[in-house]
Amino acid sequence: MCYIWKNPTHPNFEIDMATLEKLPSNFDYLNITGGEPTLRQDLMQICDLLNPKTKTLEISTNGLHPEKLVPIIKKYPNIKVRISVEGFEATNDTIRGEKNGFKKKLETMQLLIEAGGTDLGFATTFQDENIHEVVGMFHMAKKMNVELATSALHNAFQFHKNDNHIYERRTVAKKIEELIVEMLRTWSIKNWFRGYLNLGLIEKVLGHDRLHACTQGTDNVFLDPWGDVYACNVRNDLWMGNLRKQTWDEIYQGPLAKEIRAKVAGCTQNCWMVSSAKTAMRSKYHTRLPRTSVLRWVVVNKLRVMFGMAVPFEQYVDYNKVTKDAAVVKRTSYLNVTEKKVIQPEVSGRYSHLDSYINR
Ligand code: SF4
Repeated sequence: MCYIWKNPTHPNFEIDMATLEKLPSNFDYLNITGGEPTLRQDLMQICDLLNPKTKTLEISTNGLHPEKLVPIIKKYPNIKVRISVEGFEATNDTIRGEKNGFKKKLETMQLLIEAGGTDLGFATTFQDENIHEVVGMFHMAKKMNVELATSALHNAFQFHKNDNHIYERRTVAKKIEELIVEMLRTWSIKNWFRGYLNLGLIEKVLGHDRLHACTQGTDNVFLDPWGDVYACNVRNDLWMGNLRKQTWDEIYQGPLAKEIRAKVAGCTQNCWMVSSAKTAMRSKYHTRLPRTSVLRWVVVNKLRVMFGMAVPFEQYVDYNKVTKDAAVVKRTSYLNVTEKKVIQPEVSGRYSHLDSYINR
């Protein structure tokens, strides 16, 4: 799904502690993602620094390095960990190119549970190859008493590839409906709202508009390994500044940020990723509460499922208007790739493009 593993960054040029220290200390949410965060030797120190700066700190990981994660969870049981798993054994290991990856992820999850983690879960990306397994994965997570976060296959400049297509959109969307119903059947309020979040993923898969406007650049930003700040990790033209060279306020309050937010408002990519979807689902006036329309959907459909009625998806989703299926191209399996990747040095002159923006 991404070729970051083919384009590894050089540790000497990755974001340092001094740059991370410049982040303010009133975030609702920070997510340390990758590449793979556990490859950083100083991940514990990063957590020491970032955990006090946010209400929730998440590590998104492949789960293959429990020796890095377990000490963190023992020290900070409240840190949220999401382990990427793309299906059961054969499916996960083929999609992700991980030999025995599925087994290792389950072992890591078990170790994190034993270490006392209070916010643990798996994360899966819907695609043609795994969609028939997602309901089973939801039940697996439920049995282990952990969460299942979901997203849909998409492209982003940070992935170093742009051929992530859903091939049979209707089939994938219909399977997501089944997952939504299973989520509504539980007695977890979080799962009910995840049901709505997955409704948004159906729209994404079918090529429809977002359920609620994207507010990247305002509610969320993406900080890359070189300290560059973007409104999101999908479009590389949404660059807002560089945290090594500038302060947070210069970036977030600056004139360029205004221009970028205007571009976000006109963006037609219609992504529905958990970061931007979660904030978009919240009330504009009471940001800890859901929008009225979201709350209504959740209550009405929870009641329907509780009383044995069907969720009328056709009322919410226009299945007559579906972006044409992409041509099926068998995806490459990297399961047996063993060669070591060459670490990329810093691109020379990487920051020269910043100079005209800084201090404007
Ligand atoms: S919809 Fe939002 S997250 Fe997607 S590319 Fe546009 S601005 Fe970025």
